[in-house]
Amino acid sequence: MSNERTPRRGVLLIVASPSGAGKTSLCRRLMADHAGLELSISMTTRPIRPGEVADRDYHFVSHEEFQRLIDEDAFLEWADVHGNRYGSPRAPIDRALAEGRDVLFDIDWQGARDIAEKCPDDAVRVFILPPSLEELRRRLVTRSQDDDEVIERRIQNAKGEIAHCDMFDYVFVNDDFDRSYAELAHIYHAERSKRRRNLWVAHYRDALLNEVV
Ligand code: GDP
Ligand code: ADP
Ligand code: 5GP
Repeated sequence: MSNERTPRRGVLLIVASPSGAGKTSLCRRLMADHAGLELSISMTTRPIRPGEVADRDYHFVSHEEFQRLIDEDAFLEWADVHGNRYGSPRAPIDRALAEGRDVLFDIDWQGARDIAEKCPDDAVRVFILPPSLEELRRRLVTRSQDDDEVIERRIQNAKGEIAHCDMFDYVFVNDDFDRSYAELAHIYHAERSKRRRNLWVAHYRDALLNEVV
């Protein structure tokens, strides 16, 4: 982003929604428009989908490998979602935070809850609602990357996920994609501008106050 000054504290921007509400599409666009933003690439035990690229969309691992990583405390958070395990690897997040960089998470509500508990000063939680459950089904069917049984399970789980939207800092409905994207980008920009994240302000202010005119 332009006008960048350091030192600063990075934002942990967490986007959650029921499957099919559009969080991955919104997150991809946010990444494309913000070179300094880093995506947390999750580990998952779910099978790779057509069109997905290993280590770009997810690190795909076996159940045994996932359990080994839990035992090594390698995750900032992990959760069971729709019958598979998903987790956010700790090391890249720690590195980004130490360097004042921002990290984007496309994770479920349990992960949002856990990261906000562990990093209350850095986490910003955004929840995306579908226009309706009927539209959610339509999007999952047209995305055509999951079989019928998986789609049905995700729709059945949607109400349980929507029920948790009260714990989020920001909530909006993804009806028109461009408008929703603008909303997400505005949230990100406003959060970045918060004074407490911009540690350089104190020095800058002092320099202005000491300037002789
Ligand atoms: P999608 O919902 O259609 O995007 O399906 P995915 O299979 O990509 O994601 C399944 C669920 O796991 C979603 O709710 C994600 O937000 C969630 N998820 C993905 N990565 C993580 C993670 O690292 N941690 C947690 N807690 N949840 C994750
Ligand atoms: P999620 O990551 O939440 O499961 P995706 O980003 O994969 O959702 O979106 C699910 C499907 O809905 C995709 O085919 C995507 O292109 C489509 N989609 C996303 N946002 C919108 C929207 N505002 N209007 C119509 N279709 C959308
Ligand atoms: P999908 O299987 O469709 O890629 O993802 C299903 C759900 O798992 C989505 O809601 C996605 O955001 C969530 N998810 C993906 N990675 C993680 C993760 O690392 N942690 C958590 N908690 N959820 C994740």
